[in-house]
Amino acid sequence: MKTAIYPGSFDPVTYGHIDVIRRGSEMFDQLTVCILDNKAKTPLFSVEERVRMLRKVTEDITNVRIDSYSGLLMDYAKEIGCHIALRGLRAVTDFEYELQIAQTNRLLSHGDLDTLFITTSNEYSYLSSSVVREVAAFGGDFSPCVPPFVEEMIKEKYKYSSAI
Ligand code: ADP
Repeated sequence: MKTAIYPGSFDPVTYGHIDVIRRGSEMFDQLTVCILDNKAKTPLFSVEERVRMLRKVTEDITNVRIDSYSGLLMDYAKEIGCHIALRGLRAVTDFEYELQIAQTNRLLSHGDLDTLFITTSNEYSYLSSSVVREVAAFGGDFSPCVPPFVEEMIKEKYKYSSAI
């Protein structure tokens, strides 16, 4: 069975991520979307909220499962016996960072974990979770970037945080 992991923060999931998930799910028998709980970042959404979001946006794709992990991607990959990480590339600016991570994962896993890159669809090349969070924080319209229920969850967050 051909399997891959699509790791990331997904804080929140955007149409860009969903595009990568859909296209990735057609390339593999099973695709595991894994939220990596990065202790160095303070996320807008909890891991549980992000799992819920991702389950909902992928509910019609039967070979996608959602998981989360607090630790190194290569340790997670070893645990589930997977050898391919899928990552999205938007622009040259992503490339240097992604290359560094991919090569580190390959080195530290002794060649057990390779990274496969999928280039972004043109219409999503500008999209990132951090831009969505920034626009939302200033009350801007970010509806073209995320599904409607994610939009509602983001609006709720900022309502609460501005009320504190
Ligand atoms: P990170 O793991 O750096 O926090 P994200 O959770 O934002 O990144 O994204 C996870 C993966 O999805 C990364 O490979 C990123 O390049 C990719 N990605 C994010 N937004 C898009 C997009 N609009 N189009 C294609 N790939 C994307």
